[in-house]
Amino acid sequence: MALEDAAWRQAPGWIAEQRAHGAPLELVDATAARTLAPGLAPTCAGGVYCAIDGQAEAMATVSAFAAAAGRIGARIEEGVGATALVAERSRVVAVECSDGRRRACDVALVAAGTWSAPLLAGLGLRVPLATRALQMLLTEPASGALAPVVSAFGRKLSLKQLASGAWLIGGGWPADIPDEAQNRWALRDDSVKASLAVAREVYPAVGEATLARGWAGLEAFTPDDVPVMGPVPGVDGLIVAAGFCGHGFALAPTVGDVLARLALGRDPLPDLWRGLRIERFDVAAAIRTGRGA
Ligand SMILES: Cc1cc2nc3c(=O)[nH]c(=O)nc-3n(C[C@H](O)[C@H](O)[C@H](O)COP(=O)(O)OP(=O)(O)OC[C@H]3O[C@@H](n4cnc5c(N)ncnc54)[C@H](O)[C@@H]3O)c2cc1C
Repeated sequence: MALEDAAWRQAPGWIAEQRAHGAPLELVDATAARTLAPGLAPTCAGGVYCAIDGQAEAMATVSAFAAAAGRIGARIEEGVGATALVAERSRVVAVECSDGRRRACDVALVAAGTWSAPLLAGLGLRVPLATRALQMLLTEPASGALAPVVSAFGRKLSLKQLASGAWLIGGGWPADIPDEAQNRWALRDDSVKASLAVAREVYPAVGEATLARGWAGLEAFTPDDVPVMGPVPGVDGLIVAAGFCGHGFALAPTVGDVLARLALGRDPLPDLWRGLRIERFDVAAAIRTGRGA
């Protein structure tokens, strides 16, 4: 939605750009916006709506993907981490794991989020991934029935109402990272306050709900804010998919499909994805042979 006239004037240009890429966005005036999302701030000048957009609960979605993969033969091992990639003559031949075992492989696919960088560094590859902690807030259940995900031009906001009635508030507000290796984060008072303030500004009913809890997750960002995906030149048997910069959940189904095809050698990286190749960064350190560090 647009809170200011200036943002509203930018909306048609923004829509045109998205539509050119195939996203079926529509411009909706303030009345239509309020029909879609009753409770929008009175200052709402209008909005942009995408009828095929949606939301999904992260844990349930990941569990469903894992179960579906299992049904077609994937074996998922939990509680075991990859500690090193093993290369011989510039080809990855095995992955060493935290249980002390070495799994031989034809292809290793590194998709370890922000922890991909240390794994790749063991092969001498410097992938520029910066870790940021992104905050989420959840209120106690409240009344109302907001169906779409709401955001606002010029505001850090992703607002959803869950089936319980609780408001789930994100938008990229930063948290602190006291220990990246151990996946530890700490919420920041200023981010909590600012995120709540923006949510109330856009959707005043959020202000009536009590904050239940907050948390953060560590995410990998690249210097150009788009992911790194595809094979690594000079290293056979290695595919990287990391640095999703806050958008990896929505992209996961198509990313998985592309990666499976790449790993099976069925297709090259589709043209649409070529801009994501790792070569755009200077990662070309010498590939160590023998054991990855
Ligand atoms: C608070 C928050 C809100 C977000 N909201 C959205 C959203 O609304 N929409 C959206 O599209 N995206 C969203 N994102 C971004 C999205 O969650 C990420 O882009 C996505 O999870 C990245 O997927 P990934 O598989 O690359 O990394 P991750 O999800 O970080 O997964 C990496 C996995 O690798 C495992 N791992 C790490 N090291 C090793 C190792 N050595 N061996 C084996 N396994 C290892 C980790 O345990 C982890 O399970 C959000 C992110 C955060 C933090």
